[in-house]
Amino acid sequence: MRSFRTWSGYHTTIPARWATPGSEAEIAALLREADRAGRRVKVIGSGHSWSDIALPDDVCVDLRRMRRVLAIDAAARTIRVQAGIRLEEITDALDRVGMALPILGSIAKQTIAGAIATGTHGSSLRHGNLASLVVAMRLVTPRGEIVELGPEHPWLPAARVSLGALGIVTEVTLSTTPAFRLEESLETRPIERVARELRTIAQSAEYVKIWWLPTQGDALIFRYARTPLRAVARPLARFVDEKIVNQTLFELALRAAGRYPSLTRHVNSIVMGAYFRAGTRVDRSDRCFNLAMPPIHRETELALELDDAGALLSEVAGAIHEDGLVVNFPCEVRFVAGDDAWMSPAYGRDTCQIGFYQAESPHLAKYFARVEEIGARYDARPHWGKEFSTPGERVRAAYPMAPAFLALRRELDPRGTVQNRFLLRVLGPIDRAEAMAAE
Ligand SMILES: Cc1cc2nc3c(=O)[nH]c(=O)nc-3n(C[C@H](O)[C@H](O)[C@H](O)COP(=O)(O)OP(=O)(O)OC[C@H]3O[C@@H](n4cnc5c(N)ncnc54)[C@H](O)[C@@H]3O)c2cc1C
Repeated sequence: MRSFRTWSGYHTTIPARWATPGSEAEIAALLREADRAGRRVKVIGSGHSWSDIALPDDVCVDLRRMRRVLAIDAAARTIRVQAGIRLEEITDALDRVGMALPILGSIAKQTIAGAIATGTHGSSLRHGNLASLVVAMRLVTPRGEIVELGPEHPWLPAARVSLGALGIVTEVTLSTTPAFRLEESLETRPIERVARELRTIAQSAEYVKIWWLPTQGDALIFRYARTPLRAVARPLARFVDEKIVNQTLFELALRAAGRYPSLTRHVNSIVMGAYFRAGTRVDRSDRCFNLAMPPIHRETELALELDDAGALLSEVAGAIHEDGLVVNFPCEVRFVAGDDAWMSPAYGRDTCQIGFYQAESPHLAKYFARVEEIGARYDARPHWGKEFSTPGERVRAAYPMAPAFLALRRELDPRGTVQNRFLLRVLGPIDRAEAMAAE
């Protein structure tokens, strides 16, 4: 029996059946059969979500055999790929022809379909999340119909960030840009000033993000600007950061601090010394966006109106202090241009997405609960791929287009064929029978 395990190891399940279709026609047949037989089908990406959004209850569909680049159109500046391809495979294919994605998150191990389904984002007020790059896609509906969603198709804004609730995406076409290099520069600034000056900081470069270790007074501002300077690739440094520092030394230190929280302050000081230093470097854009893989930890994240984010950050800082919470991982402040994808955390507003991270520790549950409690007062939306326990009605209330999305889901999936426990909890039951079963 094969098990599905999320990257953090927090969620594991053994699906009743594991399917690895190699074509859209196979997916359509599988869904038609499941829909007739009343089975539940969940398509997975690479399992990099912290939430249980990708957890299959019954049949698991794994698109590892559907990960090809189908076409690169240099004139239109687009790339068409199969849905199971990893982001890093897309960036490498684009780089070979002098092209790039204009934005990326901090890793590129995710599948394109998984990344867009949760609103995965990088950090820039001039660019939206990855889903905002989608100009077309192909979708197999839960009843097995194949639909081409072109740029003008009315379902495209729903399908860009779909939570996997509308069917199985088989192909995605993304807009791209000519390849570019970035110069990274770092600055430390007291967190109180950062909270007050957030909008100005967000607008101070094309790409800006902020890290802050809640036990420390200073935050670190990362700025990235396009540059004609030559890239200096650092494969050895990346290897050392990933395998030796992050996944061995930092991981061991975090485990020790998880058991003995009083050690956390010392671990944090070492992290500050190692990472929170001013400096500069030049590299290929994707190598600047992506970081060495971090040690295992858990994440929750709030997406809120940019102008509210400073106040929320100050409140969280106050709560950490008042409650004596020991936080062992940096908090990350990022920016995302507003978009029109119905269920995107950045729908309709320029957004600040603040990630609160923690390796296992006795303080984790209380920390995340406090963050969510404060976020609720700021009309914050959760990141679909990160942990949250806000009740479904409250989550849906933060999305103006949720009623339209739910209506489309009911039309496409009347029998709940692609429903799982996460979707039931967050989007609610599809019909009365499901509502009664959930009670
Ligand atoms: C170390 C690490 C770093 C991260 N960095 C960032 C970051 O910088 N920014 C950010 O925003 N997030 C980040 N994330 C979160 C991550 O990007 C998202 O959770 C993303 O959705 C994971 O993609 P996946 O391929 O693993 O999808 P999964 O987690 O496997 O699935 C996510 C959802 O996508 C759906 N899905 C997958 N394939 C399809 C398909 N073909 N058709 C329809 N639905 C589909 C699934 O059903 C599920 O609902 C990070 C996660 C980790 C572990």
